[in-house]
Amino acid sequence: MARKSLVQRSEVDQAKAAHNCQANQNHRLQKGDSRLKVYKDRSHDHYCKACALGIIEQDIKKLQALALQLAGARDDAMTPGLEPPRSTSDER
Ligand SMILES: [Zn+2]
Repeated sequence: MARKSLVQRSEVDQAKAAHNCQANQNHRLQKGDSRLKVYKDRSHDHYCKACALGIIEQDIKKLQALALQLAGARDDAMTPGLEPPRSTSDER
């Protein structure tokens, strides 16, 4: 794969049959529901919309933290004016 990406092994598709969310056994996906598909080894995991949005949000924070670390290592100073990542995890 030529293009470098941290998220190239994830995509959204629709459930082909009803099944449980693989992040939370209490979540049930119905046939046709949008879900996040994450390739893992030769298989893939499927997460319901609520879990997927949480995972994506966590990953965005993680990526921002990594970017800040890299920028900080170069500048050797905190960049002023950057807003801390806001938590939106309890909306819903
Ligand atoms: Zn779920």
